[in-house]
Amino acid sequence: MLIVNTVCEAKKILRDIKNSGKSIGFVPTMGYLHSGHISLVDQSKKDNDFTVVSIFVNPTQFGPNEDLDKYPRNFVRDEKLLRDAGVDMVFYPSVETMYPDGYATFVNVERVTDPLCGAKRPGHFRGVATIVCKLFNIVSPDKSYFGLKDYQQVIVIKRMVEDLNMDVDVVGMPIVRESDGLAMSSRNVYLSPDERLSALSLSRSFPLVEKKLKSGERRASVIIKDVEDFISSHPYSRIDYVEIVDKDSLEKLDFIDRPFLIAMAVFINKTRLIDNKIFEV
Ligand code: AMP
Repeated sequence: MLIVNTVCEAKKILRDIKNSGKSIGFVPTMGYLHSGHISLVDQSKKDNDFTVVSIFVNPTQFGPNEDLDKYPRNFVRDEKLLRDAGVDMVFYPSVETMYPDGYATFVNVERVTDPLCGAKRPGHFRGVATIVCKLFNIVSPDKSYFGLKDYQQVIVIKRMVEDLNMDVDVVGMPIVRESDGLAMSSRNVYLSPDERLSALSLSRSFPLVEKKLKSGERRASVIIKDVEDFISSHPYSRIDYVEIVDKDSLEKLDFIDRPFLIAMAVFINKTRLIDNKIFEV
């Protein structure tokens, strides 16, 4: 497994791979890897000849009061996981490499960044779109893999790729969960045992939605209220948002007349967790 820290070396290696007729699959991550990340790697390995994983905790996607400094990092552990998974190359640049002095260019995807996490984390998707655009330019992947846990991120990246005529196939992959339903996340390491129990309220609210739909309820506000009451009844929880939106445009739905996404962000004490699920009606 190659470990590459510079843009120049990465581009050279990947140009040679391309020229030899091989396809490149790419998985961007912020490290502190878990089975959710590895599921993306596994799919990339199935679909492509050469799989690249990037590890970069991207400062431009964190707000001033967010967890950039304490975001968990462990390159030694990540390296072993990626080696075991059969990854061909890890791109592990420094912040100075990605944002050298004088850096001034950002990618701003409009509209689909307005609701949900975009509304609650100003500038977040500007940072995400910028770093993913840069990484696509460096890696030139044929396909790139993103988890649907970050559902809005997948929509934003697909929008960017289409609007900027990028030759990358963006693949959204299912959410990988712990056996008790908690969506895997690098941030779960922040949770104390008690907080972790409360964190189950996110995924455990989905059966409530199912039940409401079965009973014929179609008013989004009623379903959202039920979910909010359930989550709020758990200690340490503070709801950032619970929304029901069109699964493609992310526009808010008042009345449920089509397949929809329920998406939520909840603080469990200081840890902000997200989860979502698509429901067919
Ligand atoms: P991160 O390191 O958190 O930026 O995540 C890197 C990629 O892994 C993103 O595309 C995430 O959506 C994806 N990912 C993170 N957690 C999960 C999960 N539980 N299931 C599937 N994909 C995930």
